[in-house]
Amino acid sequence: ALTAGIVGLPNVGKSTLFNAITKAGAEMANYPFATIEPNVGMVEVPDARLDRIQELVPADKLVPTTFEFTDIAGIVKGASQGEGLGNKFLENIRQMNAIVHVVRAFDDDDITHVSGVVDPIADIETINTELVLADLEAVDKRYAKVEKMAKSAKDKDAIAEYEVLEKLKPALEAGQPARSIEWNEEEQKIVQGLFLLTSKPVLYVANVAEDDMADPTVGDYYKQVAEYAEKDHAEIIGISARAEEEIAEMDDEDKQEFMELQGITEPGLNRLIRTAYHLLDLRTFFTAGGKETRAWTFKAGMKAPETAGVIHSDFERGFIRAETVAFDDLDQFGSMKAVKEAGKRRSEGKEYVVQDGDIMEFLFNV
Ligand code: GDP
Repeated sequence: ALTAGIVGLPNVGKSTLFNAITKAGAEMANYPFATIEPNVGMVEVPDARLDRIQELVPADKLVPTTFEFTDIAGIVKGASQGEGLGNKFLENIRQMNAIVHVVRAFDDDDITHVSGVVDPIADIETINTELVLADLEAVDKRYAKVEKMAKSAKDKDAIAEYEVLEKLKPALEAGQPARSIEWNEEEQKIVQGLFLLTSKPVLYVANVAEDDMADPTVGDYYKQVAEYAEKDHAEIIGISARAEEEIAEMDDEDKQEFMELQGITEPGLNRLIRTAYHLLDLRTFFTAGGKETRAWTFKAGMKAPETAGVIHSDFERGFIRAETVAFDDLDQFGSMKAVKEAGKRRSEGKEYVVQDGDIMEFLFNV
């Protein structure tokens, strides 16, 4: 499964946020026996479209799609030079599909800051420096190997990789992440093969004071992180981890009341989940009309047979076609029958690139 790794300096609110995630996840009705690692939190992806489909095409069961966060513990500072724990920290990040970087953006004299002063940008850079240094080391190693092959053997692949490394090295030396460089498709493949840490998509989570939870973007710390994120080709959201943990512990009624009091319409956790989902280029299609109304995750750009494979490999192998209805059409016309009469039900073949919100019915050979 695709997973986003939560990183951050000590005492910034990582565990608090991860607790909120696992508490929210523990309430999932459809996965009561989901056994996962203690450092993995599985959550449902909130999606109002699913309720609307259920309303129009009722089924016994409603099954949202899920998303995983992994809590990455470990020593941060000096990790790129370190053996043991520091190294493990970097190796754990390497396994992740995206990075959720939690930054302290609240003042509280009772909670010690590792460097003694709240400074979100300095905090971010402490971690990012380690990631850049680790990548630089990896690039230097490849460089030594590939340079010879590119120059003497005139090996085509080696020359292509050499050119990529030539672009990477100065960027990393200047402290810039690999994701800040524009690559063409061929280069992109080579970069992927290098398994760099700084080529992963990043979401900064500014952990703001509880008082700012109604609008987490108002504070100066948040603004500093937002400015940094833009330069860093990363995304940002503001959240109060402590408030989210409290919300996750409430029953539905209290939750509703608390949110109304705060002037918010949904938990910040929902924004976190949705943003992380999009960060990974994930999209949702639906199945409906059977026993259950269900949401499924696929990667943007996938064609119909691949998305069928998300449900079952047999569906992909024997794929014939997909009867497809866009969510917006169902929403507008109000029933599957009306959608069909309006000529909006489509028969899509093997080359169809599935769109977010498509309601699919797969026809396949067994
Ligand atoms: P970690 O070391 O990054 O996992 O940090 P923790 O989640 O353990 O948080 C460190 C301390 O900061 C704990 O005492 C939390 O209760 C506190 N904390 C976390 N989020 C907030 C917040 O939004 N506001 C305040 N005031 N304290 C917070």
